[in-house]
Amino acid sequence: MSLEKLIIIGSGPAGYTAALYAARANLKPLLFEGFFSGPAGGQLMTTTEVENYPGFPAGITGPELMKEFRDQAERFGTRYLQEDVVSCDLSQSPFKVVSKSGTYEAECLIIATGATAKRLDIKGTRDGEFWNRGVSACAVCDGAAPLFREKSLFVVGGGDSAVEEAVFLTHYASRVYIVHRRDELRASKIMIKRALSHPKVEVLWNSVVDEVKGGKVVESVVIKNVKTGALETMPAGGLFFAVGHLPNTAFLNGQIELHPNDYIKVVPGTAKTSRDGVFAAGDVQDFNYRQAVTAAGSGCMAALEAERWLAARE
Ligand code: NDP
Repeated sequence: MSLEKLIIIGSGPAGYTAALYAARANLKPLLFEGFFSGPAGGQLMTTTEVENYPGFPAGITGPELMKEFRDQAERFGTRYLQEDVVSCDLSQSPFKVVSKSGTYEAECLIIATGATAKRLDIKGTRDGEFWNRGVSACAVCDGAAPLFREKSLFVVGGGDSAVEEAVFLTHYASRVYIVHRRDELRASKIMIKRALSHPKVEVLWNSVVDEVKGGKVVESVVIKNVKTGALETMPAGGLFFAVGHLPNTAFLNGQIELHPNDYIKVVPGTAKTSRDGVFAAGDVQDFNYRQAVTAAGSGCMAALEAERWLAARE
């Protein structure tokens, strides 16, 4: 087993930016991109147009942007492994990182594993029910499937993801309903305007999904008005959750300090975790901004701190 100077776990804007900086500092980072846990490149791989990443005035698609990040880090010597890290041992340096192919050792670690879309536990949406048969947590990944064509589709949530996904689904659906539990969306003003002015989009205010029904695939949803308690069954071809994310920290098995919501705690203004020599960057430690550009910035911070930490040990 060879000893790595730096292992980076995670391949979104944070992981790739950390890799770029570390590679340029000659640390020859080894980066675990993930495999079953989601596409290499992270959440931007399932986003359409990114209009708010500086430097791209005409916009760029999420996958294109991540390819640029990846290629740039590779150019300076980053090595990639398309594998998930399943566990690690942070009890002493060198730290051990375990994937399906084996155990790797590193003097220093950067964790940039991001966060994963949440699902709600609603009757009819569970595994073995209509999950993956009309129920999804990613409209951009699944929305183009034939099963959703010219159907009424429902998006649960009231944030930017919900309105973005609703507008995306109008390419395929006959009608898109945003099911939101309150009477106000939390999405940004520009996104709300885009959704509400779209002729195919309608918001079901103060509403939740009570049940999803169907035969082989989804055929209807039962909508409950949370103010009146009234139930209404509406024909449906699909249901998409857009209700936020969970940080990917389970593989750490409690070895570094987390916030009560399971995001990694870092020393404010730094990428330092509770474990000396372990740094965190991107959405896995940020439940506030959660933007590609802030993730990239924190990846840069983590790499600079890792570089200094390694230099101080030598
Ligand atoms: P958010 O956390 O912003 O929104 C989650 C939504 O789900 C909220 O409206 C919330 O309702 C609702 N929700 C949560 N739990 C439940 C529940 N149990 N039952 C019913 N509804 C529920 O997540 P997003 O993924 O939308 O956005 C995350 C971040 O990513 C944000 O910072 C956003 O700005 C950013 N983003 C930016 C995009 C862009 O600029 N293109 C695109 C997508 C995301 P409530 O409002 O009542 O709390």
